[in-house]
Amino acid sequence: MDATEATPLMRQYREIKGQHPDAILFFRVGDFYEMFFEDAVEAAGILKIALTSRDKNKENGVPLCGVPYHAAAGYIQKLIVAGRSVALCEQMEAAGAVKGKGTLRREVTRVITPGTVIEATLLSAGEPNHIAALWPPSSGPTVGLAFLDLSTGDFRMATLPHVGEIEAALAILAPKEILLPEGHSEFLPQEAAVRYPIRLVSAALFVPARAHALLRSHFGVHSVLALGEEGAPDLVAAGGLLGHVHATQKGALGSITALRPHPHGTQMRLSSRTIDHLDLLPNGRHRAEGALLPLLDQTITPMGSRLLREWVLHPLVVPEMILERQEAVAAFYDRPSERMHLRAALGEVSDMARLIGRISLAAAPPPDLIALARSLSALPAIEKIVSGLPVLGGFPDGWDTLADVATQIGAALVVPPPLSLKEGGVIREGYLPPLDELRRFQQEGRTTLTRIESSERQRTGIESLKIRYNQVFGYYIEVSEAQIKKIPADYVRKQTLTRAERFTTTALRDVEEKMRGAEETTRAMEVEAYDALCGAVARHTARIQKMARVVARLDVFSTLAEVAHRNTYTRPRVSAGRTIRIVDGRHPVLERTETRFVPNDTTLDPPARQMLILTGPNMAGKSTYMKQTALIVLMAQIGSFVPARESDVGVVDRIFTRVGAEDDIARGMSTFMVEMTEMGQILRQATSESLLLLDEIGRGTSTFDGMSIAQAICEAVHRIGARTLFATHYHELTRLGEMEGVHNCHARVHEANGEVVFLRKIGEGGADRSYGIHVARLAGLPASVIERAGVILKEMEAGAALRASAWVAPRATDDGCAGQVIRSTPHPALDALRALDPLHLTPMQALQKLTDLIAAAKSPADGDTLRAATNV
Ligand code: ADP
Repeated sequence: MDATEATPLMRQYREIKGQHPDAILFFRVGDFYEMFFEDAVEAAGILKIALTSRDKNKENGVPLCGVPYHAAAGYIQKLIVAGRSVALCEQMEAAGAVKGKGTLRREVTRVITPGTVIEATLLSAGEPNHIAALWPPSSGPTVGLAFLDLSTGDFRMATLPHVGEIEAALAILAPKEILLPEGHSEFLPQEAAVRYPIRLVSAALFVPARAHALLRSHFGVHSVLALGEEGAPDLVAAGGLLGHVHATQKGALGSITALRPHPHGTQMRLSSRTIDHLDLLPNGRHRAEGALLPLLDQTITPMGSRLLREWVLHPLVVPEMILERQEAVAAFYDRPSERMHLRAALGEVSDMARLIGRISLAAAPPPDLIALARSLSALPAIEKIVSGLPVLGGFPDGWDTLADVATQIGAALVVPPPLSLKEGGVIREGYLPPLDELRRFQQEGRTTLTRIESSERQRTGIESLKIRYNQVFGYYIEVSEAQIKKIPADYVRKQTLTRAERFTTTALRDVEEKMRGAEETTRAMEVEAYDALCGAVARHTARIQKMARVVARLDVFSTLAEVAHRNTYTRPRVSAGRTIRIVDGRHPVLERTETRFVPNDTTLDPPARQMLILTGPNMAGKSTYMKQTALIVLMAQIGSFVPARESDVGVVDRIFTRVGAEDDIARGMSTFMVEMTEMGQILRQATSESLLLLDEIGRGTSTFDGMSIAQAICEAVHRIGARTLFATHYHELTRLGEMEGVHNCHARVHEANGEVVFLRKIGEGGADRSYGIHVARLAGLPASVIERAGVILKEMEAGAALRASAWVAPRATDDGCAGQVIRSTPHPALDALRALDPLHLTPMQALQKLTDLIAAAKSPADGDTLRAATNV
């Protein structure tokens, strides 16, 4: 160890840094935050500030860089944006508290990480800022998930049934940071581990007893049963997350007033693929106008905007809950005047949820309190508009105008307030009598100064004589060089400049002394009063959070009504049945840019009409039709009106999409592999209540393989019973229409003089042929090539019919002939084979299953043998 490291300050630094190895340590030294060693090198690079050395004379001095304490916020922001964390280490004693060479006590007061920022500049108004924690209990396949938005105090938990659900859950939360217990992190799927910043934290935080104890003390409850199920994975994850936040955010965590279960069973789970395929959110492929959320998001407040996002990503599955929202939307739809007035009143409301978050963390500048007070003052007017409308369901304890809190803030603070407390002048006159008195005294002091100034001018005859003030020298009389000769003998010289001299007098010194004392006391009083006010307001955090949620809902209800009105949407009839019937449905996003959008009907009504096979050439409008159906269902299930003349929506439990293949190629994985992997997942997860959109399945491989797989998948989906739209350009697959519940539809085209015109109308029945060769002609391929392609096609089609039948086991019909019809139920041994999962079989079991299967395949379907084969 060299001499520099041995200084007490460096030893202290080493010790504290040792506790925060992952964060850049902002080490407070006087008016600066200093960074040393690797932190200095890294921070200087990111912040573009000078890197120096602590001991400039030495060859290998300690690398050092620093930023002024009062300007730290901007630098911290840059480091956070660069994905780093910052540990703020403060001096816990006033300078001078330690005599001689001793070191001041220092402590880390807050660790700022991407998942725990609360500063408005670092947050995006319409999006939550989540930090999540996952905990896999050693017993059983479930995983506990907890997540927190520290900026609003929104804290929730869920138990995921198995690791396969992690990705979908994370895709929707989009956490800025994920906490995992150290030594138990290997369960996290690779894709998630790459996509989100992971932080390993002490596994001790997730020991159930400790997690429970912390939850109990934080929420002030006797038993964790008040919050959830003892020892349940979600509760342990929540305790672990809270433990981490307590350790890193030393300030009060008063904004976390509740822990709510994330309602898994009442909400639809959408995978990131589906969110992407249906273009729910703006993404890289298109600008914001191409997505559903920006279209719907005409909210007025940031809370409303965040809530709408949550609704779009978590549609409901319980008809009663959907109807309750629909009622509220309809109430505003039917009352344009109330809607308009409400939206005007909401314009007065700022981000209450985040304001109270910062106030309760003691990190709020004066404008935050004023913005909160102004928001609260808007509540009575809002109440007047909505009272009597059926829009407050879900808030049984009714309205809270919070007038007491608004009055409290209004009485204390000056409007408009200074930007920071340091500037002074924050507390309003009349709020604190001793403060008023001091201020009067200061005012008198200033008058005295003016008097001294004019009397000194008279006495000396120096017209330009001025009394001035600066931080270092206090008050002084300034006289220009030219007038120096006129100064009286009792002037005491303070400072000499090039063109002027500065003096003081006994009278001036007297006033100065009094003023300086008064100024310090005023400042201290203001800070104290301000802190007390923040504390008093923070005591109402839970009430304010509740009203923030009420306001957010009103904002979203009126917004959905407004959007419905502007775009002529209608109210869907939502039910628990399985019928989806849409008359003149439109694609909500495309209809806005397509001047001549053609509406289409959709009817799915299982079992009679469970699956539609949609054929037609490329560009005919198949994908648009499928997506519009899914979007209408999804909009209906968030409680919105929908783009259709009329509609019935029997709720779906999930929407699955398997669309196109182009983007997968860009991902660098074999298209076909991706397609099949995803298809496998869908077949495992879909239920008879699901809605499936399958677009061009099997395109990624050769025609016959592709067709075979497409047909096999169709059959599997058919057995699941999910309502399905299946688009394909293999018009051969229209044969599937012979299966019960499967219907053919086609995107109509008009052909004249060898030209194909897309009508964008979906008709019943299959397309009679493929149009690939037409497209080739349009694209300018030579006539001879086109002609030859036509001949080859005919040959292939003839062959295809033969081969296509070969992969369905021919079976003797009653009259003994081998049939070539496509059967909807292939040999049951195939089902048994499909049901096997080799990853969950021992070699011995596998051998036994194989033997059973062979026996089953040799005999006509025998129930007992088959049960033995599939009973894993
Ligand atoms: P496919 O899936 O059959 O290849 P798409 O659904 O991608 O075809 O549609 C191709 C284009 O046709 C769309 O980008 C859109 O511009 C237009 N289109 C599709 N459906 C309609 C419609 N109903 N009305 C008007 N234009 C449409």
